[in-house]
Amino acid sequence: MNGILITTKIKLLPKQEQYQALKRTMEQFNQACNRISIIAYESNCFSKVKLQQLCYYPIRIEFENLSSQLIIRAIAKVCEAYKLNKKTKCQFKLDGAIVYDQRILSLKGLENVSLATVEGRIKVPMFISGYHISVMQDRRIRGQADLVFVNGVFYLLLVLEIPEGERINTSEVLGIDLGIVNIATDSKGEFFSGAKINNLRKRYSRLRTKLQSKGTKAAKRRLQQRARKERRMARDINHCISKNIVEKAQRHSSVIALENLNGISKNKQKSKTVMKSQRQRLSRWSFFQLRQFIEYKARMNGVPVVFVDPKYTSQECSSCGHTDKENRKTQDQFECVSCGFVANADYNASLNIKRRAIVS
Ligand SMILES: [Zn+2]
Repeated sequence: MNGILITTKIKLLPKQEQYQALKRTMEQFNQACNRISIIAYESNCFSKVKLQQLCYYPIRIEFENLSSQLIIRAIAKVCEAYKLNKKTKCQFKLDGAIVYDQRILSLKGLENVSLATVEGRIKVPMFISGYHISVMQDRRIRGQADLVFVNGVFYLLLVLEIPEGERINTSEVLGIDLGIVNIATDSKGEFFSGAKINNLRKRYSRLRTKLQSKGTKAAKRRLQQRARKERRMARDINHCISKNIVEKAQRHSSVIALENLNGISKNKQKSKTVMKSQRQRLSRWSFFQLRQFIEYKARMNGVPVVFVDPKYTSQECSSCGHTDKENRKTQDQFECVSCGFVANADYNASLNIKRRAIVS
């Protein structure tokens, strides 16, 4: 069966001695990566199999506390890094991620995870939110999980496989226009407001200017904390909006239609999300996250998603089909120069998206 793969980030709650064991494991793992990297670079050998023959035993002897599977993971990590660039010697930070596979990681229910460390296997408690419980129940972990260390906290990035929902019967199309001012607008005329995310963004950019002018380390740290908090809040809002949209599609037996952004260039994507400055990175990131959330929640619930050509969806009149730059009076206002049709600009775009999905 073809499931949906989603990555979820889970906070670990190690006891003091477990914390130390994880830290030492991470350090030794990355030290081993650095040793392997030198061998690979100097012998110009970047294939996993050959590198394993070349350095498995010397590394095993030098890092006697690392289990053999962790050494194999370290070799794999080095190979991955050299795939991107063989010209310069790769170096690994000592708090870089460890990639665990199922031989060295296993979940013990939803409360604990068993991990291989330099001190043998340890069973570490995890913090699982209500949301994660619903996602993880009866799920299979797929492939690998990264152990990462961020600001003094260990997290697991787990890839979970979620089965696709049984496909619902559909008789309608719900066109969705995604944007910045209105995060999402559907072809039934409902606006999913971006006010909350936009307020976050404004507050963040003011704070950023203030703290950047200070330029101290403490200011930088506060800025990073703040950015993380804003991302968390934006993600919660996206979860909420995507859930509402998918439930609405289910209620109305509708296919969801979105603009296809894969085929168009990065520049056009930027103009679509109205990116003017670095300060708007949060909205850009949030925009793509919402698309992703809608897609996977739709698949989980058996709601089909179709993608339509995004060309001129904001300039075309949904009433008469006339396409003109002049139709778009302002950011909000659409007024057709040919037939006089007046509507909110995002609503007009969502109607175009809906129609394109029906036609195609
Ligand atoms: Zn018109």
